[in-house]
Amino acid sequence: MLDYYGVEADLSEEERMIQESAREFVDEKVRPDIGEHWIEGTFPKDLIPEMGEMGFYAPNLEGYGSPNVSEKAYGILMQELEACDSGLRSMASVQGALVMYPIHAYGSEKQKEHWLPKLGSGEAVGCFGLTEPEHGSNPTAMETRAEEADEGYVLNGSKTWITNSPIADVAIVWARDRTDPDTPVRGFLVETDRDGVSTNKIDEKLSLRASITGEIGLNDVYVPEENLLPGVEGMGGPLGCLTQARYGIAWGAVGAARDAFETARDYATDREQFGGPIARFQLQQDKLAEMATQITLAQLLAHRLADLKERGDMRPQHVSMAKRNNVRMARNQSRIAREILGGNGITADYSPMRHMANLETVYTYEGTHDIHTLILGEDLTGFAAYE
Ligand SMILES: Cc1cc2nc3c(=O)[nH]c(=O)nc-3n(C[C@H](O)[C@H](O)[C@H](O)COP(=O)(O)OP(=O)(O)OC[C@H]3O[C@@H](n4cnc5c(N)ncnc54)[C@H](O)[C@@H]3O)c2cc1C
Repeated sequence: MLDYYGVEADLSEEERMIQESAREFVDEKVRPDIGEHWIEGTFPKDLIPEMGEMGFYAPNLEGYGSPNVSEKAYGILMQELEACDSGLRSMASVQGALVMYPIHAYGSEKQKEHWLPKLGSGEAVGCFGLTEPEHGSNPTAMETRAEEADEGYVLNGSKTWITNSPIADVAIVWARDRTDPDTPVRGFLVETDRDGVSTNKIDEKLSLRASITGEIGLNDVYVPEENLLPGVEGMGGPLGCLTQARYGIAWGAVGAARDAFETARDYATDREQFGGPIARFQLQQDKLAEMATQITLAQLLAHRLADLKERGDMRPQHVSMAKRNNVRMARNQSRIAREILGGNGITADYSPMRHMANLETVYTYEGTHDIHTLILGEDLTGFAAYE
């Protein structure tokens, strides 16, 4: 596997073990059928509890059954999952960083004890409802509302593009609390079997096909007071979760690009044209040299980001830079890898084009490339250019 500067030589024993077990799991259980799942638009749901047993959901959290592994180990795990498919990494990212993390960070003791072990083991599936049909890049303008009623709240509104909503047991729903004069954004745990909840599936995606995506409709949905996440108020709640998930994406994208590179390199050394392997042509070597360089730069960025996170110095803007750079890198390089595979490269028998199509979603979700540019622009100049 490409590790040109040997950064993995510095992994701890625990990090190496997690990398090896994730690679083995992916190779044995997922890789053989992932192309078919992608074509069919299905996720291998039977693997959800197995992924829980393997400790793939938020293993970097402390307590409630989570082993509290290092941030680098968590990143390496995301890298290995996305080396198989961005849909597989999305499953682990949503469950871990977007559902378990907010419960862990903002939840009551009762919510933590009830949900974290179930979500960590994959007995329950969660989803994260922030995006709305009319509000994607600017979730602050959200219309979903909560009104106090009967020692609880009534929720109304709709969310869309929600990973796993059609198979979720519980949704973290972000809504404006209309009872409070400041209408702050609050987080609610909404069991999907409550009256008034609908979770229609979005079909015919051309990207992230091996991942279930849907909507969340909320029509006078009552939740008791105990379902409110008590520890957070305002946009800092959802944005705090996104920082965690974007950290995993910065790592995951390196995995997708690495897999595309390995596939292209193997193909180039095997495939013969004009009397010998195409890898002997300078044009192909230029492509491989550039891919290896770009992947290595992104890998170094991810490793440094992990160090910053580990010692508490990581800022959301650091994550924006790494998500923005690494996903763009993977999107561009998977396309070059596909090119090296010629006509065979457009089939589901090889991973690069699947990665390439998946990465269109990864480029767009968790803050589009443009939005991360604006975050960096504001950080570097002091001027916000969103509006
Ligand atoms: C497969 C998939 C899974 C997803 N999963 C989830 C999930 O689990 N939970 C969830 O809440 N959301 C999820 N999302 C939603 C995702 O986060 C949004 O699609 C994303 O935030 C972009 O919002 P939008 O699609 O409404 O695009 P828009 O915000 O309408 O943007 C359209 C274009 O305008 C650009 N743009 C917007 N504002 C500006 C600006 N100020 N300056 C310059 N350009 C701008 C954008 O960069 C983009 O190119 C998912 C999306 C997909 C595709």
